[in-house]
Amino acid sequence: MTGPDRGEPWQARAQCRGLGPLFFPEGDTTRATAQQRYAARFCTGCPVTRQCLQLAMDAEGGAAVGSRYGVFGGLSPAQRRALYERRIDRRNATQLAHRQQGDQT
Ligand code: SF4
Repeated sequence: MTGPDRGEPWQARAQCRGLGPLFFPEGDTTRATAQQRYAARFCTGCPVTRQCLQLAMDAEGGAAVGSRYGVFGGLSPAQRRALYERRIDRRNATQLAHRQQGDQT
């Protein structure tokens, strides 16, 4: 996956253009965690948060937290994995409800 400052036209409006390392802290250190929080806060003022998050979610699919990197759309790798799981749960619940409605007709 490319970083948030490359590729799509909307990325020209990314608030983080040129700040790549800030959005990809390395390791699991206190400094990296603080850097990640700072990056996530920085995203709140970005005009393309929705597109950025969608790009990451599409690219990462059901990847484990350890296979996700960086801050996209204001969310850390763990937050994006949690969002993925909530979306899957919601989709499964919807499909189950439709199936049950089909059984009743
Ligand atoms: S939402 Fe955050 S990571 Fe995404 S383009 Fe904007 S500032 Fe960059």
